[in-house]
Amino acid sequence: MERLPKYIQSSQGTLWLTEDDRDNLKISYRIKDVLFEETSPYQHVMILDSFDFGPMLVLDGVVQTTSKDGYIYNEMITHVPLTIHPQPRNVLIIGGGDCGAAKEAVRYDTVERVDLVEIDEAVVRASKRHMPEVSGNLSDPRVNYHYIDGVEFAKTQSGVYDVIIVDSSDPVGPAQQLFEPEFYRSLHRALREDGLMVCQSQSPIFHGGIVKQTYRRIGQTFPYRRLYTAVVPTYPGGLWSFTIGSKRPIPAPERIRFDKPARYASEDILRRCFSLPAFLQDLLDGEDVPLPK
Ligand code: SAM
Repeated sequence: MERLPKYIQSSQGTLWLTEDDRDNLKISYRIKDVLFEETSPYQHVMILDSFDFGPMLVLDGVVQTTSKDGYIYNEMITHVPLTIHPQPRNVLIIGGGDCGAAKEAVRYDTVERVDLVEIDEAVVRASKRHMPEVSGNLSDPRVNYHYIDGVEFAKTQSGVYDVIIVDSSDPVGPAQQLFEPEFYRSLHRALREDGLMVCQSQSPIFHGGIVKQTYRRIGQTFPYRRLYTAVVPTYPGGLWSFTIGSKRPIPAPERIRFDKPARYASEDILRRCFSLPAFLQDLLDGEDVPLPK
């Protein structure tokens, strides 16, 4: 390879991606091939074929999802809110350009419309072409693609959606605004009277400040909120959090019913994911944690 793409290093002829976005932790993935590379107006987009995780989506050098474990995150960010809502018809997904969440959402017969609001068209194009295990090469006519800023789109909606899924990248760059109180307020307006939202809310191990801040901010906008977890191997620390904000009481976990075939989600998993380890419950109940500088 004459020119190494950004974020890729070669060591004795072997290609490596090193996630270099943390001060004290660097994670490297051995790469077979670069399947896609493009610098969009929003970020550097790559699909890399890795030895251990297969094709993986990498944005600004950070692994977003992989063919080997992407289903865990996509099943958990989608099936929890869609089984809690009694009759999900209109679904909004903000971010989610790999199409994995949308692929799970269209498995519900009640769903009539999925608006996928992804700021970067290159992510959808790359994921459909090179990551069919994640995107499912989504072609369901119920999915409408909007290549605009989710912050701006949410401001234009009122009383439309039953479920909103904020499937964002980390709170940097274009995704930073997706963690702000004003955005959560616009989601509240965009939801119908019995609607609920869920967002990926980062790592309880490495991003305690963001987890706590997101939990607090959602609680300031929504009358009901719950946090749940799943283990995503390619995310820093493995354990990952998701936070729900709901206009209606969130049913007790034992009332969750789920019978769709899935590789990670099951009725038992969807009930137990709300059981939090003591360190995480203490984080949520305790004082605010200072955010990294
Ligand atoms: N599903 C992946 C996962 O497993 O975590 C990551 C989510 S997806 C790749 C994150 C997407 O959010 C990216 O494609 C990014 O372009 C998009 N995004 C970031 N900021 C956005 C914004 N303000 N509006 C809409 N999409 C945004």
